[in-house]
Amino acid sequence: MAQRHRSIEQLMECLGRLPGIGQKTAERLAYHLLRVPADEALALARAIGDARAAVRACSRCFSLDATDPCAVCADATRDGSLLLVIEDPREVARFEETGYRGRYHVLGGRISEFDGTAPEDLTTSALLARVRAERPREICLATNPDLEGEGTAQWLAEQLQPLGVQVTRLARGLPAGSTITQVSKSILADAIEGRRPLRPGR
Ligand code: ZN
Repeated sequence: MAQRHRSIEQLMECLGRLPGIGQKTAERLAYHLLRVPADEALALARAIGDARAAVRACSRCFSLDATDPCAVCADATRDGSLLLVIEDPREVARFEETGYRGRYHVLGGRISEFDGTAPEDLTTSALLARVRAERPREICLATNPDLEGEGTAQWLAEQLQPLGVQVTRLARGLPAGSTITQVSKSILADAIEGRRPLRPGR
C-alpha cells in the first residue's frame, strides 16, 4: 500500500493533539476534511486564524477577550472586593449569566497529578501577586467540585491564608461530579450566593 502523503500525516498529528481526540478520530477527521468541498475545510482553518487574531488572554485575569485588559478588568463599576478564581476561561460566560459583578482570575486548569499539572503550570503566582497588589476582601475558589478541583482549592487556600484575605468556596449545592460549565444558571447563582468560608486542611 502506498504511503500516506506527508501532509495528511501532519494534519492527523495536529488534530490528534486536540483534547479528547485519539489517533483513530484524528484519522477520521483528517480524511473528512479532505473529502468535503475545499471551501468548507478552509473555513475551519480561517475560523481558527480569525479567532486567534481577534482574541487574547487578559494579562490581569487571564480570561479571553478582544482587548487586554479584558472588558471585565477594564470596567471600573465591577466589585473589586470579590475575586472569583476559576479553572477555565469558558466559565466566565457562565458566571456572567448569573449576574455576578465581582472580578475573575482564570487559573488555566487545575492541579492534577494524573495530567502532570503542577501549580507553576497555572496562573497561581500571578494570582498571589494580584492579591497582594489589589487587596480584595474575599477570594472565592470556584474550581470544579471534584477531587482535583477540591485539591486545587485546598492548595490555594493554604497559599492565600498568610495574605490575610477571606477565602471562600462555592456552596455545596453543585451536584457532585458535575462541572461548572454543565450546571444551570440558577444552581450556579445559588452556589455563589451561598459560598462558605474555606480553611486549609478541611
Ligand atoms: Zn481581565
